[in-house]
Amino acid sequence: MRLADNECITRALDECDDVLCVYIMETPIWNPSSETRRMGSIRAQFILESLRELDEEIKELGGSIEFIKGRAVDEIPRVMESFGADRCYAQKDDAWEETEQERLLANQINLILTGGKGIWEEADLPFALESLPAVFSSFRRKVEKKMQIRSSFSSPKSISCSWKPKTELPTLTSLGFVECPKDERAVLDFRGGAKEAKKWMNQWIWERDCLKEYKETRNGLVGADYSSKLSPWLSIGCISAVEVYWEIKKYEEERVANDSTYWLFFELLWREFFRFVALRYGPQIFQRNGIKDSEDKKTLGDPKTFHRWKEGRTPNAFVNANMIELATTGWMSNRGRQNVASYLVHDLGQDWMAGARHFEEQLLDYDPCSNYGNWMYLGGVGNDPRPNRAFNFEKQAEYYDPDGTFRKLWLV
Ligand SMILES: Cc1cc2nc3c(=O)[nH]c(=O)nc-3n(C[C@H](O)[C@H](O)[C@H](O)COP(=O)(O)OP(=O)(O)OC[C@H]3O[C@@H](n4cnc5c(N)ncnc54)[C@H](O)[C@@H]3O)c2cc1C
Repeated sequence: MRLADNECITRALDECDDVLCVYIMETPIWNPSSETRRMGSIRAQFILESLRELDEEIKELGGSIEFIKGRAVDEIPRVMESFGADRCYAQKDDAWEETEQERLLANQINLILTGGKGIWEEADLPFALESLPAVFSSFRRKVEKKMQIRSSFSSPKSISCSWKPKTELPTLTSLGFVECPKDERAVLDFRGGAKEAKKWMNQWIWERDCLKEYKETRNGLVGADYSSKLSPWLSIGCISAVEVYWEIKKYEEERVANDSTYWLFFELLWREFFRFVALRYGPQIFQRNGIKDSEDKKTLGDPKTFHRWKEGRTPNAFVNANMIELATTGWMSNRGRQNVASYLVHDLGQDWMAGARHFEEQLLDYDPCSNYGNWMYLGGVGNDPRPNRAFNFEKQAEYYDPDGTFRKLWLV
């Protein structure tokens, strides 16, 4: 979703005469009428906005994008044959479905995988993937000691492409999604695209000067400033974690370096951690027992209770306010996510995977590694050294929403 800091396109342009960009809308994901819907309209709209911007930028440089709905594993070989291309470059992914597709594709075509999703790749780790520390703090200490972070790749100046694409970017409604009205209570008017990502990063870090107190504000619930809000763009690649890292460094050199500036990097390390957990454990992060060798967890799996949670109709007002924010805007704060997940699992006795699937559909910033990694953690089948992380909800609401501003905002 970006041309800046993009190893994949940089290599393709260096090594090939003609480069055609291809975007596959995976059918199981771009399928709004499915009973087990995996992506709602809010995220679909954000992705289409990002693609529109990318398409324009690529056209200005002389290239073009072919948009295809289907399965990458079928469509990529077909497109290559129809255009007479001899190789395919793609950014390597970490989660199971994606890595399986990479494996199946590599059996059929000349597939060249590059890095770019995170700060580090498997080969950079100071340990073998099989020895990935089970606990985050140990992972952090080990990778931080090594602490070499590559510089950003520069954006291409031109794209040589003599092929004419046969398709155009589809619209939201032509794909079967519905237009979503914006809600003025939303933390931010998120708009897709690499330029939008940079614009917001610049505003939040430099103009609004929020980074210098991020450690104190990061558990907030209301408004644009309490956390970076970069996750929607990071998740689909409009901006890279390496670009964010170098922006933090610049701010530290030019303005101030303190606990808060470090803490934003610390959070990016959680993102890295869950990427490697996904890579290490493959399909296990999508299974009820997660990565723990434990007995099958007994859950109530009661559809009515689960529906009440989804719709924000539980006996707990703090949970409800968060769930309504999610349904209305596709956003929920980190503090909110922890509370509603813990409430579903520990108080309502429901299956953590049902909650994770609901988040998968609803979240604007959905990422398989971060979502299932965090849910496993809270469900007691992940990387948490304390297996029963139940919250005291009265205390949480009192502490984080003392005057009820957040609850009043959403529970009208
Ligand atoms: C149950 C649950 C589900 C979650 N699902 C997702 C998801 O699908 N996609 C997603 O990006 N994050 C997910 N998170 C992590 C976290 O809540 C969001 O990344 C964060 O709230 C995004 O807001 P921000 O960009 O303002 O974050 P900031 O606080 O500004 O942090 C900066 C960046 O660090 C990364 N980050 C921060 N916290 C975490 C974390 N706990 N785990 C992984 N990365 C983190 C994100 O990329 C984030 O954009 C989940 C957390 C929980 C508890």
